[in-house]
Amino acid sequence: MLYKSRDEITKNYDVIIIGSGLAGMTAANILGRNGHKVLLLEAHNKLGGFATWFFREDRKHVFDVSLHGFPAGMIKTCRKYWNKEIADSIVQLRDVRFVNPQFSVQTDFTKDHYSKVMEESFGVPKETVAAFFDHLATMNFYDNSEETNRDLFDRYFPGRNDVVRFLMEPITYANGSTLDDPAITYGIVFSNFMSKGVFTFKGGTDLLVSKMRDELLKNNVDIKMQAQVEKILTKDGKASGVVLEGRTIQAKTILSNGNIKSTIMGLVGEEKFRPEFIKKARAVRLNTSSCQVYIGLKEGVRIPHIGDLIFTSSHPVYDPERLLDLKVSSRTFSVYYPEETRPQVENGRVAIVSSTNCRYEDWKHLSEIQYKNEKNFMIDETIKGLEKFLPEIRDQIDIIEAATPMTVERYTLHPKGTSFGTKFEGLDVSMNLHKELPGLFHAGSVGIIMSGWLGAANYGAIQANNIESYLFNGAKNV
Ligand SMILES: Cc1cc2nc3c(=O)[nH]c(=O)nc-3n(C[C@H](O)[C@H](O)[C@H](O)COP(=O)(O)OP(=O)(O)OC[C@H]3O[C@@H](n4cnc5c(N)ncnc54)[C@H](O)[C@@H]3O)c2cc1C
Repeated sequence: MLYKSRDEITKNYDVIIIGSGLAGMTAANILGRNGHKVLLLEAHNKLGGFATWFFREDRKHVFDVSLHGFPAGMIKTCRKYWNKEIADSIVQLRDVRFVNPQFSVQTDFTKDHYSKVMEESFGVPKETVAAFFDHLATMNFYDNSEETNRDLFDRYFPGRNDVVRFLMEPITYANGSTLDDPAITYGIVFSNFMSKGVFTFKGGTDLLVSKMRDELLKNNVDIKMQAQVEKILTKDGKASGVVLEGRTIQAKTILSNGNIKSTIMGLVGEEKFRPEFIKKARAVRLNTSSCQVYIGLKEGVRIPHIGDLIFTSSHPVYDPERLLDLKVSSRTFSVYYPEETRPQVENGRVAIVSSTNCRYEDWKHLSEIQYKNEKNFMIDETIKGLEKFLPEIRDQIDIIEAATPMTVERYTLHPKGTSFGTKFEGLDVSMNLHKELPGLFHAGSVGIIMSGWLGAANYGAIQANNIESYLFNGAKNV
């Protein structure tokens, strides 16, 4: 077993996995459990990728970065590819709230309740609501439809920006989708949530990732952190290993959990692929990035239940472009009530994380002083937004800080700090990577539908399966 930082890598592997995001870890666990020799390499000093957390002030405060909510499907995924203990700790959020100039709604985020609100509060005819959900249910990944989200909503709810906001705004926050993205991506992600509502991991990301690490080690996965892969090597037209700290480590297959573009253009090199494939890879658009404000309350402070997830905005209408603005007026609050979210921690503090989608370019070109000012502005606006729900909050705050696309880029190595991988076309490039360069696979946030906790973990499982087929058939001559 390899885990400690001083442990030396001495052998060759069946599979080297670059990156320990949820896709990388899930693939590693499946392959390790099935008896393959697996090495998991992570650049950061923590496992988890975006599924991460951080402590402040000697662990008095803990903040989850991306544990805000995922679909119920994660329970099955964790039971199947991880273990029962992890799956059993997944619980439903009590409620999701929307507060904006167009409406104020509290919901369990299920199809039944959404249908009721759309009929009773928005006055949409029952038949239209039913037809919309029926259509979503028939949407199929293989349909190859050109329909965009805009077309979809114009068809069912023409001129109803309020209804579109209710249906679309949470998904825009969840994966950066806009009205111009393919409707199929919306249909899949929204339907996943609507089946049963929004879920979370009770105990926090730190507990989840420590349980995943234990399971990986139990399944004989070798793990090395602070191990940033410099190069993916090829031999006779096949992936053959990686370079780490100037040293070659050989493997029959490589799975990259890094960004798909960085994998192709950076780790492998364009010259190793056909020009047509490179043209396609270059054309893949990155998704947008995120800003967050982390708020830790003073010791002993408790707040009333204001909702678990609150989509709040003072912007008059739903406008996905404006959601990205530097001077944003829309944000999602995730509220972590300590007894509910981390019952294992004694005297835990209340934590509130505000998330907004944003553009890397808006932050990248700021001078040092402008960057600081914008961060402070964001922090102040976030407190003002929160005061609408918790008027006393300013005095109750013990610690507050902000993260921007620069922070995301630095910690995850994702180009332009993309939070949700790539737009739809990235999926095709990712899925066909091993056909272009045998032995090289990719899993991780791509194509909108493979991003998010559930999408990433499931994509890791899909690619683990493809790797096993390759090891059985394709890698015989390696
Ligand atoms: C602010 C924010 C909020 C979010 N909220 C939610 C949410 O509420 N619900 C939800 O479902 N999803 C959410 N997401 C998205 C979700 O967290 C991600 O889609 C998912 O965790 C991505 O997993 P991944 O497998 O693609 O890998 P990533 O998390 O992208 O991890 C990739 C890993 O690869 C490592 N790596 C990269 N290059 C190298 C290299 N050369 N060598 C070694 N290691 C390398 C990186 O260090 C990183 O650890 C959120 C994301 C963000 C940013």
